[in-house]
Amino acid sequence: MSKRGLILVISGFSGVGKGTVVRRLMEAHDNYALSVSVTTRTPRAGEVHGKDYFFISEEEFSAMEAEGKLMEWAGYVGRHYGTPRDYVFERLEEGKDMILEIEVQGALQIREKYPEAILVFVAPPGAAVLKERLLGRGTESIEQVEKRLARAVEESGAMESYDYLLINDDLMTCVEELHQIARCEHRKMQVNRELMNDIKIDLKRFVEGE
Ligand code: ADP
Ligand code: 5GP
Repeated sequence: MSKRGLILVISGFSGVGKGTVVRRLMEAHDNYALSVSVTTRTPRAGEVHGKDYFFISEEEFSAMEAEGKLMEWAGYVGRHYGTPRDYVFERLEEGKDMILEIEVQGALQIREKYPEAILVFVAPPGAAVLKERLLGRGTESIEQVEKRLARAVEESGAMESYDYLLINDDLMTCVEELHQIARCEHRKMQVNRELMNDIKIDLKRFVEGE
């Protein structure tokens, strides 16, 4: 198995259940770590600074961006969101599969800069279910819900740039499918060059020593 972790980008319409899927994945398997983004939006009830997001000012965000500290960033419904680079790369070196739960503009920047990244798009079983989930979460006003649904229409245009499409209908099926994607990606030859060479050397030495 490859030792360095994978960059796993998870996107999907707001309210589809990305956060829920990722939380369950991390509860079930210990090889994942979650990138904690910076954002200029205000915290929702129960959100913790440093765990859900680093909640920062627009000025602090601009400074981080100017100093090249973000792997990617994007504007979303009037606020800014970005992925701090150092944290992600430290965990990758430790062998963790890093999950970046980000929207599509950011995902496309990651594809451009880090072509080895795996892009997964999570969709709902239907549009009505999406609205129900967004309303059911109870964290946004009806105006915000409408804005997020309009944004979903825009985001749907970027789906074909992704590597995998998951439907979040039954939660645990979706979680396990995501886990299987990561397992298979670890088996790819291109991330196993070192192991492949070790196998060749071991075999050659063994056969020649017979
Ligand atoms: P996102 O992170 O994509 O914005 P959330 O993880 O906050 O979405 O989920 C939105 C709402 O949908 C939450 O109330 C969550 O409990 C619910 N939810 C998530 N996945 C499912 C599922 N498979 N079936 C039913 N409800 C779900
Ligand atoms: P929310 O406000 O619901 O937490 O997030 C809004 C959207 O921003 C979601 O689609 C979420 O995936 C995305 N997002 C969260 N963090 C980042 C980030 O660091 N970069 C980008 N590009 N999008 C992010």
